[in-house]
Amino acid sequence: MIKIDDSLQYLKGVGPKKIKKYNSLDLQNVRDLLEYYPRSYDDQSNFKLLYNTVPNEKATFDVLVVGMIENRNIRRNLNIISFLIEDSSGKGIMSFFNMRYLKDKIKPNTRYLVSGKVGRFRGQIQLTNPEFEIKSNENSIGNIKAIYPLTKGVTNNEITKLIDQVINLNLFDEVIPEELINKYGLMEKNEAIKNIHKPTNRRNYLLARNRLVFEEFLIFQLAIFLMKKDDDVSKGVSLKVDNRIFDFIDSLPFELTKGQDKVLKEIFDDLSSEKRMNRLLQGDVGSGKTIIAIIAMYLSYLNGYQSTIMAPTEILARQHLESFRELLEPLGVNIELLVGSTTKRNKERILEELKDGSIHILIGTHALIEDNVEFKNLGLNVTDEQHRFGVRQRQNLNTKEKDAHTLVMSATPIPRTLALILYGDLSISTIDTMPPNRKAIETIAINNTMLNRALNFIRQELLKGRQAYIICPLIEESEVLDLNSAQEVYENLSLDQFKDFQIELLHGKMSAKEKSEVMERFEKSETKLIVSTTVIEVGVNVPNASIILIYNAERFGLAQLHQLRGRVGRGEHQSYCILYNESKSEISWQRMKVMTESTDGFYIANKDLELRGSGDIFGTRQSGIMNLKLADLSRDINILKYAQLEAKNILNKNIKLSEKEYENIKEAVRNNFKVEYTILN
Ligand code: ADP
Ligand code: MG
Repeated sequence: MIKIDDSLQYLKGVGPKKIKKYNSLDLQNVRDLLEYYPRSYDDQSNFKLLYNTVPNEKATFDVLVVGMIENRNIRRNLNIISFLIEDSSGKGIMSFFNMRYLKDKIKPNTRYLVSGKVGRFRGQIQLTNPEFEIKSNENSIGNIKAIYPLTKGVTNNEITKLIDQVINLNLFDEVIPEELINKYGLMEKNEAIKNIHKPTNRRNYLLARNRLVFEEFLIFQLAIFLMKKDDDVSKGVSLKVDNRIFDFIDSLPFELTKGQDKVLKEIFDDLSSEKRMNRLLQGDVGSGKTIIAIIAMYLSYLNGYQSTIMAPTEILARQHLESFRELLEPLGVNIELLVGSTTKRNKERILEELKDGSIHILIGTHALIEDNVEFKNLGLNVTDEQHRFGVRQRQNLNTKEKDAHTLVMSATPIPRTLALILYGDLSISTIDTMPPNRKAIETIAINNTMLNRALNFIRQELLKGRQAYIICPLIEESEVLDLNSAQEVYENLSLDQFKDFQIELLHGKMSAKEKSEVMERFEKSETKLIVSTTVIEVGVNVPNASIILIYNAERFGLAQLHQLRGRVGRGEHQSYCILYNESKSEISWQRMKVMTESTDGFYIANKDLELRGSGDIFGTRQSGIMNLKLADLSRDINILKYAQLEAKNILNKNIKLSEKEYENIKEAVRNNFKVEYTILN
């Protein structure tokens, strides 16, 4: 008997080679396979008579193949083979291109099911390259066919056949408590799994999908709430807030904005309480989050505790190092950097000095959450640009030092309602003001007729001493996608418009060291123009850079465009953002309009959600932030609200999920983020 957690190797037709391929799709066991949901469906259940159709309709027909009527070469390399078909409505033709071998394969005087798009030629129905199958008791044509996301070497047919082996075994235990199943009339789990892979009709598909989405959200919400409950009972180190920190704030080269004052007060309240802080700091690009982190971390230092700040890229970590050292080193704070490219010797020294407490502040990337990093007395963890890290990583860092406070900073403005739902485990502070005297960035959207003028304009700016970014969606040329690649644009521009300027290429395939060298030369203004992929997106601060041009702007999410735009307008110079929209679609121009009309990140995020869905806000689905396989945050927001409500209800009734009816969902919650919940023990 096959069980849900059995490896796929127990299925028919799965050898060692295939297992590797499946693993690359993240498919290890039967559960993974059954939860490998279709990307889309090919609905072949639209049965019609040949002459009851409209042109271009996709339909399936039950026909008699009368016989072959032509098999000829139209020109070199182009053969056409046609068959006469008929049903009770009349006679038609089905034709295939370059499939000569069908001559012997398709049998005359035989009934077939054929499925495809309907065309008409000289009044006669014509099907071109349809799918076909001899009619039998077990036809695959005629159903709603699942289309799976695939990788090289795995076909849709193969996945379908694997699923066929296990789909009727009813392997899942019901996860959702019975009470909720009844209350919402949810489809039972195994039934839903069957209908998501092999929907019998549209209604059943929707019922199946809704149920599975509800389950994902319910588990997610329970997991998030339990994390929060865990935090609520965990004690934090209590930091004293006294004059020394206010003197420091007074000594800064600028006055804090109202918004900064407000969030700082919220943070101080947390840090000085007995409770462990777990707070999300939201603020638009350029609203001044870094200084908040510096102040909080200095407070930690004044109280004799160490602190860390983790950034998503080395470039950003190095920039933080500079800002931190400039303000804090004169005050006796010892600050170090730990990143992937840190030499072994340096790393060993840093690890030593962290343990003996002589390093006060550690700045770094993912390298910070490695197991061998130990502190003497960690008081505060800051994570910058948190949308780049998943919940799991957040938790990892949290567990490093059980009583250290946590501050996560995000520059991806999330509509407040959504934030409350997604970050139910965090308290939220928002900086809602911008530093004064910021010149608005002028934003324009252009099409290809204006590209040369835009490039010329950039030249003029460079001649004035400014610097510029050009952003492209790809690194290298692609055969499948007709998009601008950074490589190609870089080569063209350095031969042409910008041949007399220092221009450099920056992309994610370069080593961390190469990347930071490029950035260093740009910061020193040795390089005037950087052609880059979106690695530049997060947090980079070069005040002299005053212009950014984004190729294929239609390909980016608005939140992402807003982030990119935030790379300029950081200094005294008037700055510009040029969005090169290469699409003609109306929606793409609507989206550009949102960008040219507003510089308010929260407004833009809301519009983005309206126009394109949440995928853009959180980056790709695969980012693993939420472990959602089927649910879509914008489409399913209503289901999410109910799931949140019910998660709250469940925990109110039974915080430890100890009752029998919660046994399965408790297990699912535990597996979801692979997190240990103290409260469940
Ligand atoms: P972000 O919130 O995007 O991380 P930063 O922290 O990088 O923004 O701040 C952007 C710039 O604004 C920095 O150069 C910083 O020194 C400056 N800044 C921050 N707060 C203020 C303020 N209250 N007044 C003036 N400038 C400020
Ligand atoms: Mg920042």
